[in-house]
Amino acid sequence: MVSTQLQAYGDQVMNRRTRLLPLLLGLFTLLTCASAAVPGVESVVVIGCDGMGSLAFLETNAPVMHRLMREGASTLHARGVMPTSSSPNWASMIMGAGPEQHGVTSNDWETNRFTFPAIEVGPEGMFPTIFRVIREQKPDAHTACLHDWDGFGRLLERSTVNHVEHVKDAIETAGKASKYIKEKHPQFLFIHFDGVDHAGHAFGWKSPTYYKSVELVDSLIGDVLQSIEDAGMGGKTLVLVTADHGGVGTKHGGESLAELEIPWIVRGPGVAPGTMISTPVNTYDTAATIAWALGLKPPATWIGRPVTEAFKP
Ligand SMILES: [Zn+2]
Repeated sequence: MVSTQLQAYGDQVMNRRTRLLPLLLGLFTLLTCASAAVPGVESVVVIGCDGMGSLAFLETNAPVMHRLMREGASTLHARGVMPTSSSPNWASMIMGAGPEQHGVTSNDWETNRFTFPAIEVGPEGMFPTIFRVIREQKPDAHTACLHDWDGFGRLLERSTVNHVEHVKDAIETAGKASKYIKEKHPQFLFIHFDGVDHAGHAFGWKSPTYYKSVELVDSLIGDVLQSIEDAGMGGKTLVLVTADHGGVGTKHGGESLAELEIPWIVRGPGVAPGTMISTPVNTYDTAATIAWALGLKPPATWIGRPVTEAFKP
């Protein structure tokens, strides 16, 4: 009799569980997949410094980036993707996925020249970038990209961006970006600086000239931050500073941590100041974090995850 009662009770619990399980799963999916806009974030400015691997921080006097690290959340152990060349890494950063998904495997990649196709191809023949995600879900948002390296411009869907401009020279790029911020108040701006990579290739990563070029880009980041303040966007802009790869000798593209490790620094509304991010961060988490902070749904083909540890609970 007791065992029958127990059996009935067990069945009841199991029934309740089976009814509850899909409900809990649904709630979990909703919580994890739903885009959770970070309160106060109205704009995002990404500053990508070509060749500025984490080794750049070893012997550099970079007061601006160190201030950003104190005021924001950061890690010097974020990683790029293989191979450690520019296009695969810039693509991964703005496409929220790796070369295996977006197909940008080398600097030779073009929308009509690739070794294997992307797993999702949008209207302009490429894997969805954060620019497309913003355009589709926030049609009125003003977006722009000012890039120092010519090749960057081919990695995004031109029709989704209000303004794309190749500006040669880092100082010029910073000047134009600052002017742009003050005039247009963009909701999303990507600034690409190339000078550090040039110094690495010409004089060697970790050479005195390399470190000098990091210090120059640090001061240019300071100019951009000042323009964000001047534009009245200071309290509502998420600023993200990162890089595509580091280098060894006068090269990159190989399989060393010196080439793979990159800084990942974020500061702005909702960011927990002084946080040293301990969860693993990959460059493809950048796009996912931006989408999450802006409350946008990421494409199903993205593998990046938002770096939630950087934000206040
Ligand atoms: Zn590069």
